[in-house]
Amino acid sequence: MNLHEYQGKELLQKYGVAIQRGIVIDDASKALSAFEELQKETGTEFAVIKAQIHAGGRGKGGGVKLAKNKEEVVENVNNILGMMLKTPQTPGGLNGPGKLVRKVLIAEDVYAPDFDACKEYYISIMMDRAKKRNVIIYSTEGGMNIEEVAEKTPHLVHKEHVDPALGLLPFQMRKIAFDLGLSGQAFKEMTRFISKLYAAFVGSDASLFEINPCLKTGDDRILAVDCKVSLDNNALYRHKDLAEQRDESEEDPTEVEARKHGLNYVKLDGNVGCMVNGAGLAMATMDIIKLSGGDPANFLDVGGTADAERVEAGFRIILRDKNVKAILINIFGGIVRCDRVANGIVDAYKNMGGIDVPLIVRLQGTNADVAKKIIDESGLAVHSAILLKDAARLVTEVLA
Ligand code: GDP
Ligand code: MN
Repeated sequence: MNLHEYQGKELLQKYGVAIQRGIVIDDASKALSAFEELQKETGTEFAVIKAQIHAGGRGKGGGVKLAKNKEEVVENVNNILGMMLKTPQTPGGLNGPGKLVRKVLIAEDVYAPDFDACKEYYISIMMDRAKKRNVIIYSTEGGMNIEEVAEKTPHLVHKEHVDPALGLLPFQMRKIAFDLGLSGQAFKEMTRFISKLYAAFVGSDASLFEINPCLKTGDDRILAVDCKVSLDNNALYRHKDLAEQRDESEEDPTEVEARKHGLNYVKLDGNVGCMVNGAGLAMATMDIIKLSGGDPANFLDVGGTADAERVEAGFRIILRDKNVKAILINIFGGIVRCDRVANGIVDAYKNMGGIDVPLIVRLQGTNADVAKKIIDESGLAVHSAILLKDAARLVTEVLA
């Protein structure tokens, strides 16, 4: 789950990480009062108007603008709020449709009063799966596209791995500040910043923090100007307050619907939809589809209870994808009996008034024979199988 910049900053602030402060609004009529309140709170003269969408590169697309007076604040808020913002990271990139901006952050200008004395850095934290450790990635080349920096000047991108048992150690914080070329007050501030940032990352069960830019101000303060936060969905139950901040309007509608039904769905690019119980079996099913000449259109784990309601939700989700040319249901009835699943499939099929693509059902486990009979005698246009190799052959046949 991703957070908006303003939500991410709120999270950082709770852990004592210094941030560029701001006030978020969703209505242009509040621009002026928000700006005045921000001026009172922070003493800022100017404001930066920042579009809140789940995509980076907003500055490049006109979604981040400096306003030097009230009139410019109102003008920029009016321009940005409600716009379809195109950035290199929105769907289809700069030639795509862009993303609707529903909220803007009115933020203090932290580059004032001495813009030229400011320096931008890049800092991110994520998990390095191969090393089984969190890694802090940092660079003096902040404010830019880090992928480009990594490609053209890889020696300017540093990594510091953190032993999960020891946590981030003081010498590592100092090494980072040193590598970033800092000294004196700024050096101290950076070690503090890194320490709190790392605590926030671990404390929120995040999978990614990206602070770009992290700013050194003219008076040697270090703060987060931008922040991208991704949280681990599997840990959200421990963070109700963060889970509540989910913005579904930013997410793929199909995945939102799947989550509502408790289905674990990931869209893929192929032509065979699959509905399976259990993640391992789902992976195996995707392999089987590939081996029979098809390409999986999705990963869908319906979990333990494959009743009519869940199966129907699964059908609807799979069929939203117009690339789907066939559906393979592969359910192992261990705890759930196959005959119950078969009845669920028949009911769901009837409820939906039929399904336009060939359906192959493979039920194996408790009462598999009864289940096959139910499917075969239902009078529906459904192919049934008990063995996986028969199901695979059927997939090949219907795609031919
Ligand atoms: P992104 O384009 O989506 O990554 O959005 P950022 O929050 O990183 O902002 C883009 C750029 O706007 C930054 O790299 C800065 O150069 C600039 N910017 C952000 N905040 C301020 C500010 O307070 N003052 C000034 N002068 N520029 C800012
Ligand atoms: Mn940025």
